[in-house]
Amino acid sequence: MAFAITQTCCNDATCVSVCPVNCIHPTPEERAFGSTEMLHIDPKSCIDCGACADACPVDAVLPLDRLTGGQREYARINAAYFEQDGTKPSGEEGTPARPGPNFHAWGEPSFDRVLPSDFGPLRVAIVGTGPAGMYAAKDLLLHTRAEVTLVDRLPVAGGLVRYGVAPDHPATKKVGETFARFLTHPRARTYLDLDVGTHVTAEELAAHHDAVIYAVGAATDRRLGIPGEDRPGVVSATTFVAWYNAHPEVAADAVDLSSERVVVVGNGNVALDVARILVSDPETLAGTGIAGHALAELRRGKVREVVLLGRRGPEHAAYTRPELLALKHLPGVDLLIDDHDPRIGAAIDAAGPRDKAAVLRGTAREAVDWSLPPGTAGRRRIVFRFLSSPVAVCGGEDTRAVRVTGGTSEPEIPAGLVLRAVGYRGAAQAGLPFDEATGTVPHERGRVTGRPGTYVVGWIKRGPSGGIGANRACAAETVGSLLADAVAGTLPAPAGGPKAFRRLVRRRRR
Ligand code: SF4
Repeated sequence: MAFAITQTCCNDATCVSVCPVNCIHPTPEERAFGSTEMLHIDPKSCIDCGACADACPVDAVLPLDRLTGGQREYARINAAYFEQDGTKPSGEEGTPARPGPNFHAWGEPSFDRVLPSDFGPLRVAIVGTGPAGMYAAKDLLLHTRAEVTLVDRLPVAGGLVRYGVAPDHPATKKVGETFARFLTHPRARTYLDLDVGTHVTAEELAAHHDAVIYAVGAATDRRLGIPGEDRPGVVSATTFVAWYNAHPEVAADAVDLSSERVVVVGNGNVALDVARILVSDPETLAGTGIAGHALAELRRGKVREVVLLGRRGPEHAAYTRPELLALKHLPGVDLLIDDHDPRIGAAIDAAGPRDKAAVLRGTAREAVDWSLPPGTAGRRRIVFRFLSSPVAVCGGEDTRAVRVTGGTSEPEIPAGLVLRAVGYRGAAQAGLPFDEATGTVPHERGRVTGRPGTYVVGWIKRGPSGGIGANRACAAETVGSLLADAVAGTLPAPAGGPKAFRRLVRRRRR
Protein backbone atom coordinates (compact mmCIF):
# COMPACT_ATOMS: atom_id res chain seq x y z
CA MET A 1 0.00 0.00 0.00
CA ALA A 2 1.63 3.22 -1.19
CA PHE A 3 1.29 6.73 0.18
CA ALA A 4 -0.12 9.76 -1.66
CA ILE A 5 0.37 13.50 -1.29
CA THR A 6 -2.92 15.40 -0.90
CA GLN A 7 -4.42 18.86 -1.07
CA THR A 8 -2.49 20.61 1.69
CA CYS A 9 0.94 19.95 0.10
CA CYS A 10 3.09 22.99 0.95
CA ASN A 11 5.88 22.16 -1.54
CA ASP A 12 8.64 22.64 1.01
CA ALA A 13 10.05 19.25 -0.08
CA THR A 14 11.04 18.04 3.38
CA CYS A 15 9.53 14.72 2.29
CA VAL A 16 11.86 14.49 -0.73
CA SER A 17 14.94 14.47 1.45
CA VAL A 18 13.70 11.67 3.72
CA CYS A 19 12.36 9.28 1.05
CA PRO A 20 14.76 6.34 0.87
CA VAL A 21 13.77 5.39 -2.69
CA ASN A 22 13.57 8.83 -4.29
CA CYS A 23 10.00 8.40 -5.45
CA ILE A 24 8.69 11.89 -4.66
CA HIS A 25 8.76 14.31 -7.61
CA PRO A 26 9.49 16.89 -8.76
CA THR A 27 12.50 17.30 -6.50
CA PRO A 28 14.05 20.74 -5.89
CA GLU A 29 16.76 19.77 -8.40
CA GLU A 30 14.23 19.21 -11.20
CA ARG A 31 13.14 22.10 -13.38
CA ALA A 32 9.43 21.38 -12.82
CA PHE A 33 9.80 22.06 -9.09
CA GLY A 34 9.57 25.83 -9.63
CA SER A 35 6.15 25.62 -11.26
CA THR A 36 4.52 22.55 -9.76
CA GLU A 37 1.29 22.88 -7.80
CA MET A 38 2.18 19.99 -5.52
CA LEU A 39 4.58 17.08 -5.14
CA HIS A 40 3.65 13.52 -6.11
CA ILE A 41 4.51 10.02 -4.93
CA ASP A 42 5.11 7.29 -7.51
CA PRO A 43 2.90 4.44 -6.20
CA LYS A 44 4.93 1.87 -8.12
CA SER A 45 8.18 2.79 -6.37
CA CYS A 46 6.89 3.66 -2.89
CA ILE A 47 7.94 1.07 -0.32
CA ASP A 48 5.38 2.23 2.25
CA CYS A 49 7.93 3.20 4.90
CA GLY A 50 5.98 6.27 6.07
CA ALA A 51 9.07 8.47 6.43
CA CYS A 52 7.54 11.23 4.29
CA ALA A 53 4.33 11.24 6.34
CA ASP A 54 6.35 11.67 9.54
CA ALA A 55 8.38 14.52 8.04
CA CYS A 56 5.56 16.44 6.34
CA PRO A 57 4.95 19.70 8.26
CA VAL A 58 1.33 19.98 7.09
CA ASP A 59 0.09 16.36 7.31
CA ALA A 60 -0.41 16.20 3.53
CA VAL A 61 0.94 12.64 3.10
CA LEU A 62 -1.47 9.78 3.74
CA PRO A 63 -1.55 6.04 3.04
CA LEU A 64 -3.85 5.30 0.09
CA ASP A 65 -6.20 3.23 2.26
CA ARG A 66 -6.79 6.20 4.55
CA LEU A 67 -7.93 8.58 1.81
CA THR A 68 -11.58 9.53 2.28
CA GLY A 69 -14.15 11.50 0.23
CA GLY A 70 -12.52 14.00 -2.09
CA GLN A 71 -9.04 12.92 -0.95
CA ARG A 72 -9.45 9.73 -3.00
CA GLU A 73 -8.83 11.75 -6.17
CA TYR A 74 -5.25 12.18 -5.00
CA ALA A 75 -4.47 8.49 -5.51
CA ARG A 76 -5.15 9.06 -9.22
CA ILE A 77 -3.43 12.47 -9.32
CA ASN A 78 -0.23 11.11 -7.76
CA ALA A 79 -0.13 8.09 -10.07
CA ALA A 80 -1.02 10.10 -13.19
CA TYR A 81 2.01 12.32 -12.70
CA PHE A 82 4.26 9.36 -13.49
CA GLU A 83 2.20 7.83 -16.28
CA GLN A 84 2.98 9.87 -19.37
CA ASP A 85 5.31 7.46 -21.07
CA GLY A 86 6.17 5.09 -18.30
CA THR A 87 9.69 6.42 -17.99
CA LYS A 88 9.32 10.06 -17.03
CA PRO A 89 7.19 11.96 -14.59
CA SER A 90 4.39 13.23 -16.80
CA GLY A 91 4.33 16.36 -18.83
CA GLU A 92 7.35 17.91 -17.17
CA GLU A 93 10.16 18.49 -19.59
CA GLY A 94 13.58 18.41 -18.08
CA THR A 95 12.74 16.00 -15.28
CA PRO A 96 14.97 12.97 -14.96
CA ALA A 97 14.10 9.43 -15.98
CA ARG A 98 11.78 7.57 -13.63
CA PRO A 99 13.81 6.75 -10.57
CA GLY A 100 12.52 3.85 -8.86
CA PRO A 101 13.72 2.29 -6.91
CA ASN A 102 16.81 4.41 -6.95
CA PHE A 103 18.63 4.82 -3.68
CA HIS A 104 20.15 8.20 -2.88
CA ALA A 105 23.78 8.35 -3.83
CA TRP A 106 25.91 9.86 -1.09
CA GLY A 107 28.07 12.63 -2.50
CA GLU A 108 30.98 14.43 -0.93
CA PRO A 109 30.05 15.91 2.46
CA SER A 110 28.98 19.54 2.13
CA PHE A 111 29.85 22.19 4.73
CA ASP A 112 28.27 25.18 3.07
CA ARG A 113 26.57 26.29 6.30
CA VAL A 114 29.71 25.93 8.49
CA LEU A 115 31.75 29.03 9.14
CA PRO A 116 35.48 28.86 9.91
CA SER A 117 36.08 28.01 13.58
CA ASP A 118 37.73 31.37 14.35
CA PHE A 119 34.35 33.08 13.73
CA GLY A 120 32.38 34.14 16.75
CA PRO A 121 28.63 33.50 16.45
CA LEU A 122 27.00 35.91 14.04
CA ARG A 123 24.19 38.06 15.41
CA VAL A 124 21.37 38.18 12.87
CA ALA A 125 18.08 40.06 13.20
CA ILE A 126 15.09 38.79 11.24
CA VAL A 127 12.17 41.18 10.77
CA GLY A 128 8.97 39.17 10.34
CA THR A 129 7.99 35.81 11.83
CA GLY A 130 6.00 34.45 8.88
CA PRO A 131 7.14 31.40 6.90
CA ALA A 132 9.98 33.19 5.05
CA GLY A 133 11.49 34.63 8.22
CA MET A 134 11.12 31.36 10.11
CA TYR A 135 12.70 29.25 7.36
CA ALA A 136 15.67 31.66 7.50
CA ALA A 137 15.76 31.41 11.31
CA LYS A 138 15.57 27.62 11.15
CA ASP A 139 18.45 27.49 8.67
CA LEU A 140 20.64 29.76 10.79
CA LEU A 141 19.80 28.07 14.11
CA LEU A 142 20.14 24.49 12.86
CA HIS A 143 23.17 24.90 10.61
CA THR A 144 25.28 27.66 12.18
CA ARG A 145 26.05 28.99 15.66
CA ALA A 146 24.31 32.27 14.87
CA GLU A 147 22.31 34.12 17.52
CA VAL A 148 19.01 35.24 16.07
CA THR A 149 16.84 38.20 17.05
CA LEU A 150 13.28 37.69 15.78
CA VAL A 151 11.17 40.82 15.48
CA ASP A 152 7.47 41.11 14.65
CA ARG A 153 5.33 44.23 14.73
CA LEU A 154 2.27 42.20 15.78
CA PRO A 155 1.70 40.85 19.29
CA VAL A 156 1.39 37.27 17.96
CA ALA A 157 4.06 35.56 15.85
CA GLY A 158 3.37 33.62 12.66
CA GLY A 159 2.68 36.14 9.89
CA LEU A 160 0.65 34.60 7.07
CA VAL A 161 0.57 31.17 8.72
CA ARG A 162 -1.30 32.73 11.64
CA TYR A 163 -3.33 35.38 9.82
CA GLY A 164 -3.48 34.24 6.18
CA VAL A 165 -4.38 30.54 6.18
CA ALA A 166 -8.09 29.70 6.10
CA PRO A 167 -9.39 28.28 9.40
CA ASP A 168 -10.74 25.16 7.65
CA HIS A 169 -7.17 24.25 6.63
CA PRO A 170 -5.85 23.20 10.05
CA ALA A 171 -3.22 20.93 8.51
CA THR A 172 -1.64 23.91 6.73
CA LYS A 173 -1.72 25.94 9.92
CA LYS A 174 0.20 23.09 11.59
CA VAL A 175 3.40 24.22 9.91
CA GLY A 176 3.27 27.05 12.47
CA GLU A 177 4.05 24.49 15.19
CA THR A 178 7.24 23.55 13.36
CA PHE A 179 8.26 27.20 13.27
CA ALA A 180 7.15 28.01 16.83
CA ARG A 181 9.91 25.97 18.43
CA PHE A 182 12.51 28.30 16.89
CA LEU A 183 10.92 31.32 18.56
CA THR A 184 12.10 29.95 21.90
CA HIS A 185 15.34 28.36 20.69
CA PRO A 186 18.18 28.92 23.21
CA ARG A 187 20.03 31.07 20.66
CA ALA A 188 16.94 33.05 19.61
CA ARG A 189 15.35 36.05 21.26
CA THR A 190 11.89 37.08 20.09
CA TYR A 191 10.52 40.61 20.28
CA LEU A 192 6.80 40.83 19.47
CA ASP A 193 4.83 44.07 19.20
CA LEU A 194 8.02 45.79 18.05
CA ASP A 195 7.79 47.80 14.86
CA VAL A 196 10.91 48.63 12.89
CA GLY A 197 10.30 52.20 11.79
CA THR A 198 8.23 53.12 14.88
CA HIS A 199 9.92 51.71 18.00
CA VAL A 200 13.42 51.31 16.53
CA THR A 201 14.83 52.51 13.24
CA ALA A 202 16.30 50.24 10.58
CA GLU A 203 19.67 51.89 11.29
CA GLU A 204 19.43 51.12 15.02
CA LEU A 205 18.53 47.50 14.32
CA ALA A 206 21.50 47.19 11.95
CA ALA A 207 23.83 48.87 14.44
CA HIS A 208 23.17 46.09 16.99
CA HIS A 209 23.55 43.10 14.64
CA ASP A 210 26.02 41.71 12.11
CA ALA A 211 23.21 41.36 9.58
CA VAL A 212 19.48 42.03 9.24
CA ILE A 213 17.09 39.93 7.13
CA TYR A 214 13.77 41.53 6.20
CA ALA A 215 10.94 39.01 5.81
CA VAL A 216 8.08 41.51 5.85
CA GLY A 217 5.98 39.91 3.10
CA ALA A 218 3.59 41.78 0.83
CA ALA A 219 1.60 43.92 3.20
CA THR A 220 -0.92 45.50 0.83
CA ASP A 221 -3.14 44.34 -2.01
CA ARG A 222 -3.42 45.35 -5.66
CA ARG A 223 -6.30 47.60 -6.60
CA LEU A 224 -8.79 47.23 -9.45
CA GLY A 225 -8.50 50.81 -10.69
CA ILE A 226 -12.21 51.13 -11.60
CA PRO A 227 -14.87 53.71 -10.67
CA GLY A 228 -16.65 52.99 -7.40
CA GLU A 229 -13.81 50.91 -5.94
CA ASP A 230 -13.79 53.00 -2.77
CA ARG A 231 -17.47 52.53 -2.00
CA PRO A 232 -18.39 50.93 1.32
CA GLY A 233 -18.98 47.27 0.46
CA VAL A 234 -15.74 46.89 -1.51
CA VAL A 235 -13.26 45.08 0.71
CA SER A 236 -9.87 43.61 -0.10
CA ALA A 237 -9.58 39.86 0.27
CA THR A 238 -6.52 40.57 2.42
CA THR A 239 -8.79 42.37 4.89
CA PHE A 240 -11.45 39.66 4.65
CA VAL A 241 -8.92 36.88 5.36
CA ALA A 242 -7.41 38.88 8.23
CA TRP A 243 -10.94 39.49 9.57
CA TYR A 244 -11.85 35.81 9.83
CA ASN A 245 -8.41 35.08 11.33
CA ALA A 246 -8.85 37.69 14.12
CA HIS A 247 -6.02 39.95 12.94
CA PRO A 248 -5.60 42.63 15.62
CA GLU A 249 -5.61 45.47 13.06
CA VAL A 250 -8.95 44.53 11.43
CA ALA A 251 -12.15 45.57 13.21
CA ALA A 252 -14.72 42.94 14.14
CA ASP A 253 -17.35 44.80 12.07
CA ALA A 254 -15.15 45.24 8.98
CA VAL A 255 -17.31 42.86 6.91
CA ASP A 256 -21.07 42.94 6.39
CA LEU A 257 -22.61 39.73 5.05
CA SER A 258 -26.21 40.93 4.81
CA SER A 259 -26.23 40.63 1.01
CA GLU A 260 -27.34 37.41 -0.72
CA ARG A 261 -24.65 37.63 -3.40
CA VAL A 262 -20.93 38.41 -3.09
CA VAL A 263 -18.69 39.06 -6.09
CA VAL A 264 -15.07 38.01 -5.69
CA VAL A 265 -12.80 39.59 -8.28
CA GLY A 266 -9.90 37.26 -8.95
CA ASN A 267 -9.22 33.63 -9.79
CA GLY A 268 -6.33 32.70 -7.53
CA ASN A 269 -6.24 30.48 -4.46
CA VAL A 270 -7.09 33.42 -2.18
CA ALA A 271 -10.27 34.01 -4.22
CA LEU A 272 -11.18 30.33 -3.84
CA ASP A 273 -10.41 30.45 -0.11
CA VAL A 274 -12.74 33.35 0.55
CA ALA A 275 -15.48 31.88 -1.68
CA ARG A 276 -15.26 28.58 0.21
CA ILE A 277 -15.50 30.27 3.61
CA LEU A 278 -18.48 32.36 2.46
CA VAL A 279 -20.56 29.38 1.26
CA SER A 280 -19.51 26.82 3.89
CA ASP A 281 -22.00 25.81 6.54
CA PRO A 282 -20.87 28.03 9.47
CA GLU A 283 -21.29 25.08 11.84
CA THR A 284 -18.46 23.26 10.05
CA LEU A 285 -16.21 26.23 10.85
CA ALA A 286 -17.08 26.35 14.55
CA GLY A 287 -14.13 25.08 16.58
CA THR A 288 -11.62 25.65 13.77
CA GLY A 289 -9.97 28.73 15.22
CA ILE A 290 -12.07 31.13 13.14
CA ALA A 291 -12.57 34.50 14.84
CA GLY A 292 -15.71 34.58 17.00
CA HIS A 293 -16.96 37.77 15.33
CA ALA A 294 -16.54 36.19 11.86
CA LEU A 295 -18.40 33.04 12.83
CA ALA A 296 -21.23 35.13 14.30
CA GLU A 297 -21.46 37.21 11.10
CA LEU A 298 -21.40 34.10 8.89
CA ARG A 299 -24.23 32.60 10.96
CA ARG A 300 -26.22 35.82 10.83
CA GLY A 301 -25.39 36.60 7.19
CA LYS A 302 -27.54 35.92 4.11
CA VAL A 303 -24.89 34.95 1.55
CA ARG A 304 -26.21 32.27 -0.81
CA GLU A 305 -24.07 32.87 -3.86
CA VAL A 306 -20.49 33.83 -4.59
CA VAL A 307 -19.52 34.88 -8.11
CA LEU A 308 -15.87 34.34 -8.97
CA LEU A 309 -14.93 36.83 -11.64
CA GLY A 310 -11.89 35.84 -13.68
CA ARG A 311 -10.32 37.84 -16.50
CA ARG A 312 -8.88 34.74 -18.13
CA GLY A 313 -10.43 31.47 -19.29
CA PRO A 314 -10.66 28.24 -17.23
CA GLU A 315 -7.46 26.90 -18.83
CA HIS A 316 -5.47 29.89 -17.52
CA ALA A 317 -7.06 30.52 -14.12
CA ALA A 318 -4.51 31.30 -11.41
CA TYR A 319 -5.85 28.87 -8.79
CA THR A 320 -4.28 25.46 -8.32
CA ARG A 321 -6.00 22.17 -9.04
CA PRO A 322 -6.03 21.00 -5.39
CA GLU A 323 -7.86 24.15 -4.25
CA LEU A 324 -10.39 23.83 -7.08
CA LEU A 325 -10.97 20.16 -6.28
CA ALA A 326 -11.73 21.10 -2.67
CA LEU A 327 -14.66 23.25 -3.84
CA LYS A 328 -16.21 20.29 -5.62
CA HIS A 329 -16.68 18.44 -2.37
CA LEU A 330 -18.34 21.11 -0.24
CA PRO A 331 -21.59 19.76 1.19
CA GLY A 332 -24.70 21.73 0.24
CA VAL A 333 -22.84 23.83 -2.33
CA ASP A 334 -23.49 23.75 -6.10
CA LEU A 335 -20.94 24.86 -8.67
CA LEU A 336 -22.08 26.59 -11.84
CA ILE A 337 -20.18 27.96 -14.82
CA ASP A 338 -21.68 31.08 -16.37
CA ASP A 339 -21.75 30.03 -20.02
CA HIS A 340 -21.80 33.56 -21.41
CA ASP A 341 -19.00 32.94 -23.93
CA PRO A 342 -18.59 29.81 -26.11
CA ARG A 343 -14.81 29.83 -25.55
CA ILE A 344 -15.35 28.82 -21.91
CA GLY A 345 -17.09 25.51 -22.63
CA ALA A 346 -14.71 24.84 -25.52
CA ALA A 347 -11.67 25.22 -23.26
CA ILE A 348 -13.14 22.84 -20.68
CA ASP A 349 -14.12 20.26 -23.31
CA ALA A 350 -10.70 20.39 -24.96
CA ALA A 351 -8.73 20.07 -21.70
CA GLY A 352 -6.43 17.09 -21.28
CA PRO A 353 -6.90 14.85 -18.23
CA ARG A 354 -4.16 16.61 -16.24
CA ASP A 355 -5.14 20.16 -17.26
CA LYS A 356 -6.62 22.48 -14.70
CA ALA A 357 -9.72 23.13 -16.81
CA ALA A 358 -10.53 19.40 -16.85
CA VAL A 359 -11.48 19.60 -13.15
CA LEU A 360 -14.53 21.61 -14.24
CA ARG A 361 -15.73 18.94 -16.66
CA GLY A 362 -19.15 17.77 -15.51
CA THR A 363 -19.85 21.06 -13.70
CA ALA A 364 -23.20 22.57 -14.70
CA ARG A 365 -23.10 25.34 -17.31
CA GLU A 366 -25.73 27.92 -18.11
CA ALA A 367 -25.88 31.53 -19.21
CA VAL A 368 -26.85 33.17 -15.92
CA ASP A 369 -29.67 35.72 -15.89
CA TRP A 370 -28.35 38.18 -13.33
CA SER A 371 -31.75 39.81 -12.86
CA LEU A 372 -33.00 36.67 -11.09
CA PRO A 373 -32.40 35.95 -7.40
CA PRO A 374 -29.33 33.80 -6.77
CA GLY A 375 -29.46 30.00 -6.81
CA THR A 376 -31.97 27.55 -5.45
CA ALA A 377 -33.66 28.11 -2.09
CA GLY A 378 -31.95 26.15 0.68
CA ARG A 379 -28.69 25.69 -1.22
CA ARG A 380 -25.62 27.82 -1.76
CA ARG A 381 -23.63 28.08 -4.94
CA ILE A 382 -20.40 29.33 -6.46
CA VAL A 383 -20.64 30.74 -9.99
CA PHE A 384 -17.50 30.86 -12.11
CA ARG A 385 -17.65 33.73 -14.57
CA PHE A 386 -14.53 33.47 -16.74
CA LEU A 387 -13.39 35.89 -19.46
CA SER A 388 -14.92 38.80 -17.61
CA SER A 389 -13.53 41.83 -15.79
CA PRO A 390 -15.17 44.44 -13.56
CA VAL A 391 -15.79 47.81 -15.17
CA ALA A 392 -17.39 49.71 -12.29
CA VAL A 393 -18.82 49.21 -8.83
CA CYS A 394 -22.30 50.71 -8.86
CA GLY A 395 -24.31 52.09 -5.97
CA GLY A 396 -25.04 55.19 -3.92
CA GLU A 397 -23.98 55.27 -0.31
CA ASP A 398 -23.29 51.56 -0.52
CA THR A 399 -22.51 48.85 -3.10
CA ARG A 400 -25.39 47.58 -5.24
CA ALA A 401 -23.82 45.86 -8.22
CA VAL A 402 -20.71 45.28 -10.29
CA ARG A 403 -20.76 46.08 -14.00
CA VAL A 404 -18.68 43.55 -15.89
CA THR A 405 -17.40 42.82 -19.37
CA GLY A 406 -18.33 39.72 -21.36
CA GLY A 407 -21.26 38.70 -23.52
CA THR A 408 -23.01 41.14 -25.83
CA SER A 409 -23.51 43.89 -23.26
CA GLU A 410 -21.91 44.90 -19.99
CA PRO A 411 -24.25 43.23 -17.50
CA GLU A 412 -24.62 44.37 -13.92
CA ILE A 413 -24.29 41.65 -11.30
CA PRO A 414 -26.29 42.70 -8.23
CA ALA A 415 -24.17 42.29 -5.07
CA GLY A 416 -23.83 44.07 -1.75
CA LEU A 417 -20.23 43.00 -1.14
CA VAL A 418 -17.29 42.94 -3.54
CA LEU A 419 -14.05 41.28 -2.51
CA ARG A 420 -10.92 42.32 -4.36
CA ALA A 421 -8.61 39.30 -4.71
CA VAL A 422 -6.29 40.27 -7.55
CA GLY A 423 -3.02 39.82 -5.70
CA TYR A 424 -0.88 41.08 -2.88
CA ARG A 425 1.67 43.86 -3.20
CA GLY A 426 4.79 44.61 -1.15
CA ALA A 427 4.96 47.92 0.73
CA ALA A 428 7.99 50.19 1.04
CA GLN A 429 9.96 49.44 4.20
CA ALA A 430 11.58 52.30 6.14
CA GLY A 431 15.32 52.38 5.52
CA LEU A 432 15.28 50.10 2.45
CA PRO A 433 15.25 50.84 -1.29
CA PHE A 434 11.98 49.92 -3.00
CA ASP A 435 10.98 49.14 -6.58
CA GLU A 436 7.51 50.65 -7.09
CA ALA A 437 6.96 48.71 -10.32
CA THR A 438 7.36 45.27 -8.75
CA GLY A 439 6.53 46.07 -5.12
CA THR A 440 9.78 44.43 -4.01
CA VAL A 441 13.12 45.43 -2.53
CA PRO A 442 15.91 45.38 -5.17
CA HIS A 443 18.40 42.63 -4.34
CA GLU A 444 20.93 40.19 -5.70
CA ARG A 445 20.39 36.65 -4.36
CA GLY A 446 18.85 38.20 -1.23
CA ARG A 447 21.50 40.95 -0.73
CA VAL A 448 19.73 44.32 -0.65
CA THR A 449 21.19 46.61 -3.29
CA GLY A 450 23.47 49.26 -1.78
CA ARG A 451 22.95 48.10 1.84
CA PRO A 452 25.80 45.82 2.99
CA GLY A 453 24.65 43.54 5.81
CA THR A 454 20.97 43.86 4.85
CA TYR A 455 19.04 41.00 3.20
CA VAL A 456 15.51 40.13 2.10
CA VAL A 457 13.58 36.88 1.92
CA GLY A 458 10.06 35.83 0.93
CA TRP A 459 7.50 37.93 -0.92
CA ILE A 460 9.29 41.26 -0.32
CA LYS A 461 12.24 39.66 -2.17
CA ARG A 462 10.62 37.75 -5.03
CA GLY A 463 7.08 39.18 -5.22
CA PRO A 464 3.84 37.66 -3.94
CA SER A 465 3.92 34.23 -5.51
CA GLY A 466 4.56 30.74 -4.21
CA GLY A 467 3.10 29.16 -1.10
CA ILE A 468 4.59 28.41 2.29
CA GLY A 469 7.09 25.80 1.11
CA ALA A 470 8.54 28.02 -1.63
CA ASN A 471 10.11 30.07 1.14
CA ARG A 472 12.39 27.22 2.14
CA ALA A 473 14.59 27.47 -0.96
CA CYS A 474 14.24 31.27 -0.97
CA ALA A 475 15.54 31.43 2.63
CA ALA A 476 18.37 29.02 1.82
CA GLU A 477 19.55 31.35 -0.93
CA THR A 478 19.43 34.45 1.29
CA VAL A 479 21.15 32.74 4.23
CA GLY A 480 23.77 31.40 1.81
CA SER A 481 24.51 34.95 0.60
CA LEU A 482 24.71 36.20 4.18
CA LEU A 483 27.16 33.48 5.22
CA ALA A 484 29.28 34.03 2.11
CA ASP A 485 29.48 37.73 3.00
CA ALA A 486 30.48 36.85 6.58
CA VAL A 487 33.28 34.65 5.28
CA ALA A 488 34.34 37.37 2.81
CA GLY A 489 34.45 39.91 5.65
CA THR A 490 32.02 42.34 4.02
CA LEU A 491 29.50 42.57 6.88
CA PRO A 492 29.67 45.93 8.67
CA ALA A 493 30.78 45.62 12.32
CA PRO A 494 27.91 46.29 14.75
CA ALA A 495 28.36 49.12 17.24
CA GLY A 496 26.23 47.61 20.00
CA GLY A 497 25.57 44.16 21.45
CA PRO A 498 22.49 42.24 22.62
CA LYS A 499 22.29 43.95 26.02
CA ALA A 500 22.37 47.41 24.43
CA PHE A 501 19.61 46.34 22.04
CA ARG A 502 17.45 45.03 24.90
CA ARG A 503 17.92 48.32 26.75
CA LEU A 504 17.02 50.28 23.61
CA VAL A 505 13.82 48.29 23.12
CA ARG A 506 12.84 48.70 26.77
CA ARG A 507 13.34 52.47 26.54
CA ARG A 508 11.32 52.82 23.33
CA ARG A 509 8.40 50.75 24.55
CA ARG A 510 7.82 52.85 27.67
FE1 SF4 B 1 9.11 7.43 -0.05
FE2 SF4 B 1 8.50 5.97 2.17
FE3 SF4 B 1 7.02 8.14 1.51
FE4 SF4 B 1 6.84 5.92 0.02
S1 SF4 B 1 6.24 6.15 2.16
S2 SF4 B 1 7.05 8.04 -0.73
S3 SF4 B 1 8.97 5.20 0.13
S4 SF4 B 1 9.21 8.13 2.11
